[in-house]
Amino acid sequence: MKQFTEELKFSEDISVTLKRRKNSKRVIFRMAKSDELIITAPTRLSAALIRQSLQENSAWIEHQHIRLRREERLSDEIHNHRTLEQNGLPQSIFLNAIEQTINVIYRPTTAAHCRALLHDETLVVSGAIKDQAKVLLALKRWLGRYAEEIFLPWLHDLAMQTSQDFMSLTCNMPKTRFGSCTEKGRIRLNARLLFYPADFVDYVMIHELCHRKHMNHSAAFWQLVAYHCPEYKQYTNRKQQKLWARSEPPWLQ
Ligand SMILES: [Zn+2]
Repeated sequence: MKQFTEELKFSEDISVTLKRRKNSKRVIFRMAKSDELIITAPTRLSAALIRQSLQENSAWIEHQHIRLRREERLSDEIHNHRTLEQNGLPQSIFLNAIEQTINVIYRPTTAAHCRALLHDETLVVSGAIKDQAKVLLALKRWLGRYAEEIFLPWLHDLAMQTSQDFMSLTCNMPKTRFGSCTEKGRIRLNARLLFYPADFVDYVMIHELCHRKHMNHSAAFWQLVAYHCPEYKQYTNRKQQKLWARSEPPWLQ
C-alpha cells in the first residue's frame, strides 16, 4: 500500500494520502492543507484510474494549493502580528532626542538567535523572532549601538564647547543612572536618553564633561555646569525626569 501511495506523487510541494473506502462510489479530492492532498477512492478502483483522475484534476489541485498557501501565510502574519502586540514588541520606535521614527519589521529565519539591523528608517529584526527574550535582547543591543553612534559626535561637539575632553564613550541601559564619568575620562551614557528631549541629553553630557574638572558634586562643580547650561535646574528636577521617562517604551522595562 505504501508503494502505491508513493506512485501517486503529484508534485514536490504536495504530499498525497490515499484512503480506501469500501462503500465510496467515486474518487474524491480534498486539500487538507496547502501541501496535503487527500484522495478517497473505492477499494477496488485501480491505481491507473486513480492516477488518471489525479491528472485530470491537476489544475484544480494547483489552484487550491496556491489559494490555501496564500491564506495560510495571511493567517501566519496576523498571528505573528497579534503575538508581537501581546508580547509588547514594537512596530515602530520614536526617538525623542533626534525626532526620528523607526519602523520595525520582524523576519523569521532558522537562526538560533535574533539580530537587529537598521536599513534607512527601518529596523529589521531577524532570526528566532518567536522567542520574546531573544527579540528583546536584540532590540536592546541595537539601541545601545545606535545610542553610541548618535551620541559620540554629539559629545565631541559639547566637549569642544565646554573645553573638556573625554577618553571614550559607552552606552548601556542601567535602570536609574543617566550617565557617569571615571577619573580617566571614560564616559558612560544611558541609551534610554534617546527617548528623552535633546535639551536634557545636552544637560547630561555637560554634567559628565564637567566631572572632568571636578570629580564630585561640589558647589564648584555645579557652578561650572551652570556656566555651560544656565537652565540646568529644570533638568535635575526628579518630577520632570519622571514625566520624560514616560516616553521610554514598555519593551525597555
Ligand atoms: Zn554627577
